[in-house]
Amino acid sequence: MLARRTPPRYPLGMPELPEVETIARDLRGLVTGARIVGASSNWPPTLRSHEPEAFAAGVAGRPIEGIGRRGKQLLLWLGPASGATEGAAAEPAVLTVHLKMTGQLFVVAAEAPSDHHVHVVLTLADGRELRFRDMRKFGRMGLYRRDTETGEPLEGEAVGVLATGAEPLSDDFTARRFAEMLFRRRGRLKTLLMNQDFLAGIGNIYADEALWRSRLHPLRDAHTLRPDDIRRLHRALRDVLAEAVERRGSSVDDYTAPEGDGSMQEHLQVYQRAGEPCERCSRPIRRIVVGGRSTHFCSWCQRLPAEQRAGAAALLRSANQAAPAPIRRGSRWTEISGDGALGRTRDEEAKAAQRQRRIAANRKAAATRRAAARGGATARSGGAA
Ligand SMILES: [Zn+2]
Repeated sequence: MLARRTPPRYPLGMPELPEVETIARDLRGLVTGARIVGASSNWPPTLRSHEPEAFAAGVAGRPIEGIGRRGKQLLLWLGPASGATEGAAAEPAVLTVHLKMTGQLFVVAAEAPSDHHVHVVLTLADGRELRFRDMRKFGRMGLYRRDTETGEPLEGEAVGVLATGAEPLSDDFTARRFAEMLFRRRGRLKTLLMNQDFLAGIGNIYADEALWRSRLHPLRDAHTLRPDDIRRLHRALRDVLAEAVERRGSSVDDYTAPEGDGSMQEHLQVYQRAGEPCERCSRPIRRIVVGGRSTHFCSWCQRLPAEQRAGAAALLRSANQAAPAPIRRGSRWTEISGDGALGRTRDEEAKAAQRQRRIAANRKAAATRRAAARGGATARSGGAA
């Protein structure tokens, strides 16, 4: 078996269900029972529900009663503000936190050093701070009145903020329910699994891993799954997510939890392993870009039914137009040359465009310098004459 090499740099991933669940568990131990006395924010867009001052007033005096999770978002359950007898402050609230790509939460002593990537600080009465650090600034927090039954924002409070899909680790997500959800459902498996209004909490990492485990091709049409395929996929989804929660998530990119990193990244079979041997068949793991997202799979173990190959190949050819790479039709599936990479992600597109702009700017600057040098030479020679 080939040795695993250092993975190449990939565009940033987002914390998914196991990572957010790990953060929720860590926070539960750290801040349940603590009281918020104030808040500050230096980047207003992070707060999706309030201006910074109104947000600070909205959380001040509230105890943190518990921590939950819905899909990829954290729910901080806040009690009524101490002493409040009427208005919103006297009602239970929920603070939703979406980490997006680079969001991190830390609980530290107030005097601990900070940095300019910390965008929201909740000050706790016991001298600690709950800090939200977010390099790329795509993370979002919202403060809403809470439905005490569900723990989620009251109906109509946060329309479109939380995922509406099934929770894949909940007891009522059975194989039978999954089959019902898939009934007549159109779309490619990879895209469907990542749809937060279908299943909540699954992103690139665990969609790729569950599909590899269940030997299903990411471009397979969802409505063509047979009962046995559905059972295998259901089992794979639950197994890989439960194992990842157990291992505190995958610490790829910027993910870390308040009580430390996860170790699931060492147990991933396909994600970010393009070119490495498949654990089952030793053939190289492939990487394609579909819908702007990297997709990793084994083209030998995860076969497409014959009748779907032409359609999938057409999809790949169109993805291939941005960054041409030779495609060879294999006996089982379209083989991709090189390290299995095809197409470019949005991040890679942006980087390529940035590079082009930099080159153009450098050329222009060099031309200006040359022109200035020539001008200076003319002036000097003119002065000498
Ligand atoms: Zn394989």
